[in-house]
Amino acid sequence: MNKTNRRVFLKHAGVAALASAIPGFSTAAPSAPRVVVIGGGFGGATVSKYLRLWGGDINVTMVESQPLHYSCILSNGIVTGDYGLDRVRLQYDALKDRHGVEWLQGKALKIHPDSQEVTVRTATGRVKLPYDKLIVSPGVDFISPQGNYKAGKTPHAWKAGEQTINLRNKIKNMRDGGTFVMRIPKAPYRCPPGPYERACVCADFLQRHNPNAKVIVLDENPKIMAEPVTFGNAFETLYSDILEYHTNVQVADIDSPAGILNTDIGQIVGDVINFIPDHKAGKILHKSGLVDDATNRWVQVDPITYGSVAHPEIHIIGDSQATGQPKSGHMANAQAKVCADAILRYFGGEQPNQQPSTASACFSPITQDTAGWLTAVFQYDAGTGQMKLVPDSFAEAEEVSKDNYEEMFAWADNLFADSFG
Ligand SMILES: Cc1cc2nc3c(=O)[nH]c(=O)nc-3n(C[C@H](O)[C@H](O)[C@H](O)COP(=O)(O)OP(=O)(O)OC[C@H]3O[C@@H](n4cnc5c(N)ncnc54)[C@H](O)[C@@H]3O)c2cc1C
Repeated sequence: MNKTNRRVFLKHAGVAALASAIPGFSTAAPSAPRVVVIGGGFGGATVSKYLRLWGGDINVTMVESQPLHYSCILSNGIVTGDYGLDRVRLQYDALKDRHGVEWLQGKALKIHPDSQEVTVRTATGRVKLPYDKLIVSPGVDFISPQGNYKAGKTPHAWKAGEQTINLRNKIKNMRDGGTFVMRIPKAPYRCPPGPYERACVCADFLQRHNPNAKVIVLDENPKIMAEPVTFGNAFETLYSDILEYHTNVQVADIDSPAGILNTDIGQIVGDVINFIPDHKAGKILHKSGLVDDATNRWVQVDPITYGSVAHPEIHIIGDSQATGQPKSGHMANAQAKVCADAILRYFGGEQPNQQPSTASACFSPITQDTAGWLTAVFQYDAGTGQMKLVPDSFAEAEEVSKDNYEEMFAWADNLFADSFG
């Protein structure tokens, strides 16, 4: 950073000194600007790391409610018992020890945009963290369906951890010849190919371990929302004997303990129900009055900085933002880098990059040892102020293969290391 940049950088550091007085909120460089990051998933971990890596003496404090992160990426292999939760367990040690991120375990309760503070509940009480810039990457929250809905009885397993193990146990212990029902939420939801991938690997598991079982997939969308050729082929060939796929299904209500879904195609009864509810932005954004898109579910941001349209000093990345880019871990990682770069330029008195691009990739297991994949690249379009899909970049694998399955782990481990390592 040159001297001019350094002066502008320090000009924005006004509130930093306040924070040093707060227990559990130590200050590595008291004169440096203060960035608070809410959420330590793919978006939050990556932005914290890269702010420190590229920004040097900037103060970065991550607030995360959990002691470690379980990745949803690769979690469908846990549902089928191919490996355990350990495979997707990601620690914060490297962020703290290698990159100097201040890490605070606590739940962010409310953002106060006017005073630029966040109220956090920690094990020892409530603290208010002041910030010059705030980044929020809380993932998604769920909209409860009508009826007697109990997530523990009809697990979504759409946040990795306890729910994933719950669903694994239910499928493993399902009665001989039982019915497994999956409900796919209306888009946008996190990981567009994820539900179809889950339908495939669960059908594969049941074909091998419970051959008289049946899989019923109730999709609220009008068609397969990602990798239509790959999943369409799998449903029509590999799983035609076991799997029924229905589009445009509206679920009126659910009775989780009874295993009943009332839908517009009739009543569906399942021995195991994997009900993935509709999604919305993380709770903290709703509670803080920051959700402002037309559907009242997501937060509108400027994709050049990921600053909220209403409060540009609050940046929203990952699943909670409303740019229309896919809600994926790979995408959250890419947005985090655009956001980190824009914030560092801001502190340096420079304009953000006017041509940001992002990318997303997903590998989708189809059986216990084969997979397909999906890629997409997005480029900022100055005319509309939106991120636009680069047409030639949108592709799915020509065939599913064992090589793809192996590459899936290498790709995931690279992403894990780039975000958390
Ligand atoms: C089955 C499945 C498979 C998937 N496969 C892929 C894939 O192959 N490729 C891919 O790119 N993506 C995949 N995804 C999607 C990916 O997991 C998400 O898009 C990604 O995790 C989003 O990152 P995020 O930072 O927005 O949220 P998350 O990674 O969910 O992180 C949010 C974090 O914020 C914390 N938090 C929330 N609220 C608060 C609060 N108030 N205070 C403190 N902490 C808080 C949470 O504890 C959590 O750690 C998959 C998802 C699923 C469900």
